[in-house]
Amino acid sequence: MPDLDEFAGLLEQSKNYALDYIGGVDTRDVFPGDAAIRGLACLVEDLPDAGVDGLEILRLLHEYGSPATVATTGRRYFGFVTGGALPVSVAARWLADVWDQNAGLYVMSPIAATLEDVCEKWLVELLGLPGGTAMGLVSGSSMGTLCGLAAGRNRLLRAHGWDARRDGLFGAPPIRVVVGEEAHSTVFKALSLLGLGSARVEVVPSDGQGRMDATRVPELDDATLLILQAGNVNTGAFDPFERLCPLAREQGAWVHIDGAFGLWAAASRRFADLTASMALADSWSADAHKTLNVPYDSGIVFCRERPALTEALQLQGAYIAYSDQRDGMLYTPEMSRRARSVELWAALKALGRAGVAELVDDLHDKACYFADRLRENGFDIPGEACFNQVNVYVGDEAETRRVSQGIQSLGTCWCGTSARNGKPFIRISISSFRTTYDDIDRSVQAFARAASGHE
Ligand SMILES: *Cc1c(COP(=O)(O)O)cnc(C)c1O
Repeated sequence: MPDLDEFAGLLEQSKNYALDYIGGVDTRDVFPGDAAIRGLACLVEDLPDAGVDGLEILRLLHEYGSPATVATTGRRYFGFVTGGALPVSVAARWLADVWDQNAGLYVMSPIAATLEDVCEKWLVELLGLPGGTAMGLVSGSSMGTLCGLAAGRNRLLRAHGWDARRDGLFGAPPIRVVVGEEAHSTVFKALSLLGLGSARVEVVPSDGQGRMDATRVPELDDATLLILQAGNVNTGAFDPFERLCPLAREQGAWVHIDGAFGLWAAASRRFADLTASMALADSWSADAHKTLNVPYDSGIVFCRERPALTEALQLQGAYIAYSDQRDGMLYTPEMSRRARSVELWAALKALGRAGVAELVDDLHDKACYFADRLRENGFDIPGEACFNQVNVYVGDEAETRRVSQGIQSLGTCWCGTSARNGKPFIRISISSFRTTYDDIDRSVQAFARAASGHE
């Protein structure tokens, strides 16, 4: 079968290039150099009239694409919270790509649906969420938060006699939104997409560590969405769930927790104090592509009340055959969707319950080590490393830019900058399972060299 031979040849070549890439990812500069960026010009052209051979296409990708990637699967990428990619998860995804399943309906992919069911059960248990909690697999936490808030908005309005799905928001009873000062920007995007407005929210100030200040939360009621976070994107801090979740429940508010990278802390006993009462919320969002080290894109929404989620996201069509099995599109905004459950399942199965806890603890241990080594080298890091985040204060904006650009141009590691309360800092996120203590030592040297200006 010649077409199969061709396919096999392409996959084989793709594998060879991938192995070549993996072999070099820890010795190259973390961010692509100028030559690699200039090389991208070779790909910017008019659409060719005649098609190009598949092997030639792979060659172009490897020759010009691979060097222009950011080495986020390497061991010393500390910018943003990207996570690495567990090998088994990548390999499982390759196989699933060959299957090319549509995870929208059970009748389109029994395997995708079965693995979604299994992942839902495993994750609800692993994260200590209420039994029966529903899970949808989306692109990321942006989408997960959108879905959780859509479910909450509709549920609150229904309790006030309004069907938002049918009648929209014009003329609806008002919904209040209470959100922390340091909520992630994607929360405000979700609010604006949902017609709740990004600016008509009640903002609660945060304390020094970036947690919502529980003493300043306004009175809640049964027409309020309270949005909390597990893992402040700068400081790693967790909002005070133990104070706020029981209170919100009592007062009938809907609580959504943005736990993009921090929700995973619930898998480890070490963080029990931070995650206590998190299970009293109504919806949660998380990213498997961050802390769990599953390849992009792999976001998750959880919702305590299954019907609240499926009613908010359901669509109807004469040809749509919902079954009594899992129909994935009931849990996500999309209809067609790739089978994200495959790589998620592979990662969870490979790690096991203990392995996820170890992964989470290990990221924390390494963040603490990074902070300690930097402090020994004279860097200003206030407080303990919370979860996997470290904030390094090196001076005013110009100095912070100078040092961070110095670090970036050394190529050993990559960190970005951020600011809180008008004070800039260099932000370190330890989110790859591959980072070693030796990598941290080398990165601390890069910090020291960049700060001293002797590059
Ligand atoms: C990364 C992140 C998001 C956005 O997640 P995406 O997967 O990029 O959509 C939201 N909230 C927090 C706290 C994050 O760290």
